[in-house]
Order: sequence, then C-alpha cells, then structure tokens
Amino acid sequence: MFPFGFYFDPMYFVFALPALALAMFAQWRVSSAYKKYTQVRNAKSLTGVQVAQYLLRANGLNLNVQGTPGNLTDHYDPRDKTLYLSAGVAQTPSVASLGIVAHEVGHAVQDAQGYAPMRFRAALVAPASVGPWVGYVLFIVGIFINMSGLVWLGIAFFSASLLFALATLPVEFNASQRALAMLRSSALVGPGEVDAARSVLTAAALTYVAAAAQSLSTLLYYVFVATNMGGRRRSWLDWKLGIRS
Ligand SMILES: [Zn+2]
Repeated sequence: MFPFGFYFDPMYFVFALPALALAMFAQWRVSSAYKKYTQVRNAKSLTGVQVAQYLLRANGLNLNVQGTPGNLTDHYDPRDKTLYLSAGVAQTPSVASLGIVAHEVGHAVQDAQGYAPMRFRAALVAPASVGPWVGYVLFIVGIFINMSGLVWLGIAFFSASLLFALATLPVEFNASQRALAMLRSSALVGPGEVDAARSVLTAAALTYVAAAAQSLSTLLYYVFVATNMGGRRRSWLDWKLGIRS
C-alpha cells in the first residue's frame, strides 16, 4: 500500500525498504527452490494430481482437485472444499510437486479438523480487507484537519492487515509440518525427498514472514507520522499553500 499518493515522503522508504528487501529475497528463494526441485523427478514418478489423490485418501478426505491458472498459485479453498493446483505442479512428477501438494492437503486437513488458528484467520479476512481502506481515509482526513484522535483511530483500523498477516503464520507453518509428516509416513517418498520438499516449503514460509514484516513496517511508518504530527503541521500547511521548500 502506498503512503499518501499525493505526498512523497522519503521517510516512508526508510521504514519500507528492509521489509521490501526481505520480500524480494523470499520471492527469489521460493522461485529458485521451485525451479530446482521441479526438475527433480520423484521416486514414484507421481504427478501432483496423483499425489493429491493419494494423500487425500490417506487422510480420509474426499475432495475435488482442480486446475488453477498461473505459476505457484496452488491453494486449498475452504469455501468450496477444493484443492486448486497449478499446471506446473499438477502435471509434473517432481519433488516440488510432492511438497507443494502435501502442504495444500495439510490445509484441507486443518479445515476438516476445524483447526482453531485457521478459523481465527478466516474470521479476519473481512476486517483485513476493509480495515486498511477505512484506516487510510481516517488517517488522511485526521492529518488534514490536524486531529490526532482520528489519525490514531485510522491506525487502529489499519492494524487489521497486520493482525491478518500474523494470524496467517501459524496456519502456514502448521500446514507445512503436516505436509512433511504426511510424506514421511507415506510410501510416496524416496531417500532425501522429504528434505527437498522441506526446502521448498521453508522458502514458501519465508514469503509469509516477509508479508507480515511489510505490514508491520507500513504500520510503524503511520505511527511515526502520527507521533510527529505537531512537527509536520508546517510542512502540511506549506503543501496546502503550494509552498515547496
Ligand atoms: Zn499454505
């Protein structure tokens, strides 16, 4: 999310850059791990779809498996109880497919068991999608009319997105733990394949940590602006009067 749109503040980048760098590093890690392990054939030569069918059955689940466009877009949707697999995962008999499919089956098992952190996260979906926008408007209006109460209320609304990003972490870590346990106890994996699957899933987990860090850094920037409101009054007035210093 952009800071103001109409007002360029270099301080925003001081707050945002470390988390942005982490996000880029995580993205690079996940795509390089995927690229590496999508070329390694798994011991049983099973495609992602076959792995999904096997693991769902092993967990006593009878769910749909469908294709979804894009790369690394694999996900489980609890609303329609469907496992969505990207073509690269669904059709490739690779070690990467083993790890990614097992992770998504992990989410399906969480859902079937009513795993509390997943339910908590689901309850935050609506507040997290509306909260930041309400917060942003309150924040901007508060700055303009110089009313700090409104600015802090905006920050409170805005923090819904951080809460969501944090609530996502245990759900994702747990799905990967389940995935590795599932693979270990199944007859699907050959020697070293659980470790390979783990490195793909660890890289993917880092992207969620980076997302939380980005959410936190944006929030901290807003807090920084709010606590420096008095000192900024003049520059905002300058801006309104069209004075550029
Ligand atoms: Zn996941």
